[in-house]
Amino acid sequence: MASYDYVTHNYDAIVIGAGGSGLRATLGLAEQGLKTACVTKVFPTRSHTVAAQGGIAASLGNMGPDHWQWHLYDTVKGSDWLGDLDAMEYLAREAPKAVYELDHYGVPFSRTEEGKIYQRPFGGHTTEFGEGPPVQRTCAAADRTGHAILHTLYGQSLKQGAEFFIEYFAIDLLMSDDGQCQGVVAWCLEDGSIHVFNAKMTVLATGGYGRAYFSATSAHTCTGDGGGMVARAGLPLQDMEFVQFHPTGIYGAGCLITEGARGEGGYLTNSEGERFMERYAPTYKDLASRDVVSRCMTMEIREGRGVGKDGDHIHLHLNHLPAEALAERLPGISESARIFAGVDVTKEPIPVLPTVHYNMGGIPTNYWGEVLNPTEGNPDRVVPGLMAVGEAGCASVHGANRLGSNSLIDLVVFGRAAAIKAGEVVDRGAAPAAVNTGQVDKALDRFDGLRHAKGGTPTAELRLEMQKAMQDDAAVFRTDKTLAQGVDRMYKVAEKMDDLQVTDRSLIWNTDLMETLELTNLMPNALATIVSAEARKESRGAHAHEDYPDRDDENWRVHTLARINGKVELDYRPVHVDPLIGHNEGGIDLDKIKPKARVY
Ligand SMILES: Cc1cc2nc3c(=O)[nH]c(=O)nc-3n(C[C@H](O)[C@H](O)[C@H](O)COP(=O)(O)OP(=O)(O)OC[C@H]3O[C@@H](n4cnc5c(N)ncnc54)[C@H](O)[C@@H]3O)c2cc1C
Repeated sequence: MASYDYVTHNYDAIVIGAGGSGLRATLGLAEQGLKTACVTKVFPTRSHTVAAQGGIAASLGNMGPDHWQWHLYDTVKGSDWLGDLDAMEYLAREAPKAVYELDHYGVPFSRTEEGKIYQRPFGGHTTEFGEGPPVQRTCAAADRTGHAILHTLYGQSLKQGAEFFIEYFAIDLLMSDDGQCQGVVAWCLEDGSIHVFNAKMTVLATGGYGRAYFSATSAHTCTGDGGGMVARAGLPLQDMEFVQFHPTGIYGAGCLITEGARGEGGYLTNSEGERFMERYAPTYKDLASRDVVSRCMTMEIREGRGVGKDGDHIHLHLNHLPAEALAERLPGISESARIFAGVDVTKEPIPVLPTVHYNMGGIPTNYWGEVLNPTEGNPDRVVPGLMAVGEAGCASVHGANRLGSNSLIDLVVFGRAAAIKAGEVVDRGAAPAAVNTGQVDKALDRFDGLRHAKGGTPTAELRLEMQKAMQDDAAVFRTDKTLAQGVDRMYKVAEKMDDLQVTDRSLIWNTDLMETLELTNLMPNALATIVSAEARKESRGAHAHEDYPDRDDENWRVHTLARINGKVELDYRPVHVDPLIGHNEGGIDLDKIKPKARVY
């Protein structure tokens, strides 16, 4: 058995992750006087939230009429009727309050002439329950909204006395024998020490798992560590088949090229130089919706008309546009293309690929962020001591598809809700629970096994194999055949986890070992995604299935639950269809949001 000394810390609450959701939870916990620590593998302001540019949705009505019920309607429709109504209602109703709180904490929002928070339009956000014109609902701090939110929340959390453990990597959850979460085991990357965080409440805010795919707009640190820890604790992951793709990520690097590039006249071509979108979408061509363009690009590549030496991507042309227009309207894009693709956009096309942008699925929770472990007869059973928020969680407000600017609001609304709930359930006076040393040993044995892994497959090689398999078979284009083939392929890839090779045995800044731990987290997320997708015989939101092109509410308006036990075991739980407050008390008229075809 591995033998490591460790330091034990006792807290009322710990938060794993310092992105927007983790910091909002940390701040809310500390404000209530709970002894709180935030454990994060990267410096807080380097979390992926920093990259969010567009903004944060809330029905403030600063630019024209708006109503939380219209925001709710848009979110329900965006989710393709898979979201939980209570959670979506909570999001839409609490959103304005959460944004004003951010404002008062000091987020430097852009302003209107009268000094109100500036709001911009975003796809899918409308008025009058989808009958009226688009609404300006997305609050923005220029094009650095996520950046502004992170810096403000980090400063406020420090002010409230929250403690930060920065560049500490959480390895595994500590569960009691009767199924309560009691904290985590973590590894300090800087000095190699091991730490047990013993806590009455553990909040997972570890972000998405975009890096399970070859091409992702998210940071390399988005490796689904929370989902991995939860899966190893025998708990389920929910709705993992729903992965949002953006058509134009830079090939290889994955950085986003905004839709604006096509808005300004850019177009896509295949290896024959053909503007293929004219064939698929004669009216809107390159400006058809995100999921449609992504699907067509993928079909071209699958049919052998991709560009490049491996024929595995597509060209985006801006070089026919006047150089002055590019410099004026798309300076950021021109710069990204130069740095990340080595391309001068005035002369050459940009190599692009449909790119993973967001994970709708994650750790199932209720709208207080409490993690669920459904059993026969109790689909909403709570795991004591464990919460999940942000992209790691699945409340579920985004259902089968997320609307732009609805993630940042999800982070702060549910980060705040989790803190409120923890304030109610944590017994501050209680003595810390005895550390379950058996669980600590188990986590450290796993850690030690990976540290000394002597197989024949380097981590980077196996990770690439997984990413290529997911990109080929669990991406935009899905058929019975490709999904079944993908499941086989992914199980074969996962088997090679026993043959991993780690070359650095040290404990200090051992990035080889850290990336290996991350791969052990990516793998269960990836398996759950492809197996859940293979099982869902309908098309809904981001899950477009060529063999079942229609949504099937009768059989499939259910959340998928995936438990990983070597193989992936699937189960389902009902979607919440009851609102929090009834129509008579000022709640929504259910007639307005009943399922119908999702057309824009
Ligand atoms: C390029 C880009 C642009 C976007 N633009 C927008 C937008 O304009 N509007 C919008 O609403 N949404 C946008 N999104 C989506 C949104 O930004 C993300 O969904 C959101 O920021 C995720 O926040 P989070 O708090 O869940 O996690 P993250 O910000 O990803 O943070 C995760 C945290 O977990 C920590 N962590 C992870 N694993 C461990 C571990 N094992 N041990 C310790 N710590 C760990 C990390 O250190 C980090 O602090 C965008 C996403 C991308 C990628």
